[in-house]
Amino acid sequence: MNAEPSRVTAQNPPSRRELPNDHRAALKETAREFVRREVAPYLQDWEDAGSIPREVHLAAAKQGLLGVAFPEEVGGQGGDLLDSVAMQEAFFEAGASSGLMAALFTGGIALPHMVSDWATNGSPDLVDRFVRPTLAGEMIGSLAVTEPGGGSDVAGILTTARREGDEYVVNGAKTFITSGVRADFVTTAVRTDGPGHAGISLLVVEKGAPGFAVDRALAKMGWHCSDTAELSFVDVRVPAGNLVGDENSGFVQIAEQFVVERIGLAVHAYGIAARSLALTADYVRHRETFGKPLIANQVVRHRLVEMHRQVEVARTYTRSVAARHGEGENMIAEACLAKQTAVDCATYVCDQAVQLHGGTGYLHGTEVERHYRDARILPIGGGANDVLADLAAKLLGYSS
Ligand SMILES: Cc1cc2nc3c(=O)[nH]c(=O)nc-3n(C[C@H](O)[C@H](O)[C@H](O)COP(=O)(O)OP(=O)(O)OC[C@H]3O[C@@H](n4cnc5c(N)ncnc54)[C@H](O)[C@@H]3O)c2cc1C
Repeated sequence: MNAEPSRVTAQNPPSRRELPNDHRAALKETAREFVRREVAPYLQDWEDAGSIPREVHLAAAKQGLLGVAFPEEVGGQGGDLLDSVAMQEAFFEAGASSGLMAALFTGGIALPHMVSDWATNGSPDLVDRFVRPTLAGEMIGSLAVTEPGGGSDVAGILTTARREGDEYVVNGAKTFITSGVRADFVTTAVRTDGPGHAGISLLVVEKGAPGFAVDRALAKMGWHCSDTAELSFVDVRVPAGNLVGDENSGFVQIAEQFVVERIGLAVHAYGIAARSLALTADYVRHRETFGKPLIANQVVRHRLVEMHRQVEVARTYTRSVAARHGEGENMIAEACLAKQTAVDCATYVCDQAVQLHGGTGYLHGTEVERHYRDARILPIGGGANDVLADLAAKLLGYSS
C-alpha cells in the first residue's frame, strides 16, 4: 500500500520533493533562509518605496547568491544554469516576488556579454571594472535595449554611437530599463553602423557621464519593488574600451543571452505560480463557506489539481530545456516554448489563486495579489508571446 502523501502547504511546496543533488539542496536551503531572514519581512516596504536597498545586493553576495552561475574567475560561484534555476525556485518557495528577482538579479542580464567577451578575447578590463563589483553586491548594472519607439524589434534600435578617436559619442533614448534608476552602469545597445541587426554594438555607459540622465522612474502595474527607468543620452562620451565584444556584434550577443533570460523568466512564471498554489492550498483548508472548508468541495480540489498540473508541466519542461542548454544544445526555439508554457501557467494559476482567496485575494498586501499583478509583465518582457511564437515558427520550420 502507498504511504499517505504529505500535504502540500506553503511550508511544504510540491517542488521541494525533487532535489537534484546535495550541493543544490544546500544552495536551495541557503536561498530560502536568505529570503526568510533578509527579504520577506521587508518586501512590502520595498514595494511601497519602489525599489530595493543596495544593502540587499551586498547581503545576497555575502551568501554567495548573486553570482551562482558565473565563473569563479570573474567573481562568481562557478555553478551552472541548473544551479541558478534551483536557487531561483528556492527564492520563490520562500516568498520572494518576481519583481524582487528582477531588481536583485539584474546583473544576470547586464553582465553575461562581458563575461563571454572575457572568455573569448581574454580582456580583463570590463570584468574588473563591472562584473566583479556587481557580483560582490557593490555595483548595480542594467541592460538597455528597448527604446520609446519599440522593444520587440531589437534590430530597429535608433540610439547611435559615433566613433571619435578613443571615444564613442552616444545619442538617443531607452525606456522600461530594469534597475535603471539605481544603476551605476548600463550595458547599452547602440547603432554603430547602418540599419538592421548588423549595425548594433554593446557599450557600457557609466552613471555620471555628462549627457547621460535618468529622465523618469516609471510607475507600473506590478514589479513595484523593481525600479524601472527612462534614460536619455545627449552627446555622451564613452571610452572606446567600454565596447563589449567586437563592434557590430551586439545583436548576436543579445540574441545569445536571450536564451538564458527567457529560461529565467520561465522560472519566475512557474515559481510565482507554485508559491500561489501552495498559499492557496493552505487558505482553502482553513476558509469555511456553507459550514465546511472550501477544500471539502470537489470543484475546489479539482481546481487545485489543475493548478498543480500546470506548474508541474512548466517546471519539468523548463528544467529540461535548461539542462539541454547546459549540454550545449541549441535551445533558442525551446526557450521560447518554455517561457510561453510557464507564462500561460502563471496567468492561469495566479488568477485562480486570487479567485480562491475571494475578497482577501483582491487586497493590497496579500501575497497572491502581488503575484497576480507581477505575472502580467511576463508575457510582454524578454520577448512578447507573439514575437516568441514567430521566432519559434521560423526556427522549427513552420514558414510559408
Ligand atoms: C517592467 C518592465 C521591465 C523591462 N525591463 C527591460 C530591461 O531591463 N531592458 C530592456 O531593454 N527592456 C526592458 N523591458 C522592455 C520589454 O522587453 C519590452 O516591453 C518588450 O520587448 C515589448 O516591447 P514594447 O513594449 O515596445 O512593445 P511593442 O514592440 O510595441 O509591441 C507591443 C505588443 O504588440 C505585440 N507584437 C509586437 N510585435 C508583434 C508581431 N511581429 N506580431 C504579432 N504581435 C506583435 C506584442 O503582443 C507586444 O506586447 C521591460 C519592460 C517592462 C514593462
